[in-house]
Amino acid sequence: MARPLYNVVFVLGPPGSGKGTSCQKIQEKLGFVHLSAGDLLREERQREGSEVGRLIEEHITNGSIVPVEITCKLLENAMEAAGDAPGFLIDGFPRNQDNLEGWKRQMDEKAKVNFVLFLSCPVEVCINRCLGRGQGRTDDNEESLRKRVVTYNTHTLPIIEYYMKLGQVKEVSSEPTADEVFSSIVTVFKDAGYTANL
Ligand code: UDP
Ligand code: MG
Repeated sequence: MARPLYNVVFVLGPPGSGKGTSCQKIQEKLGFVHLSAGDLLREERQREGSEVGRLIEEHITNGSIVPVEITCKLLENAMEAAGDAPGFLIDGFPRNQDNLEGWKRQMDEKAKVNFVLFLSCPVEVCINRCLGRGQGRTDDNEESLRKRVVTYNTHTLPIIEYYMKLGQVKEVSSEPTADEVFSSIVTVFKDAGYTANL
């Protein structure tokens, strides 16, 4: 029997907009599985014997975007490994046209994108959060951050706009505190029909 379609919510927004924090909270409350594309890439970068570790490192430091074949495979493997889940929160992907096209080629028949949760936040607030969060990331420095913001504005915003035209974007301002943001997110999920545990 064919496996049911993976139920996917893409979570996008500038670096430091709180994607990871919000996804963690949604995971706890709704049982959706949080998959951060950036975390999966960082894991792969650390994996002994990885043939793409150096390539990933270069992209992360430059704030540029890893070829979709790599990222999408990591995402698909993680979804497969997670097994049964009411849904998946795919955090920080798709970030550019290459990501979007690659996802469609690889996943269109295996996954249904329910909606895009867009966490909007002024860039300066985001940058200050990243500089203050002390997660030890090699790309949370002023120089990499400026590059990440340029990449976001140039490549990721058009993807969000693409989904906006399809009426699939639910925007939440992530400028307030994490708890306030989360309560707006709960409303979004309720409106989308996910009432279990909410
Ligand atoms: N990245 C990528 N493709 C993805 C997700 C992340 O190439 O689908 C790389 C990219 O270089 C990005 C970095 O990983 O700047 C960190 O991504 P993450 O989502 O962890 O951080 P964010 O910039 O959203 O805070
Ligand atoms: Mg993140």
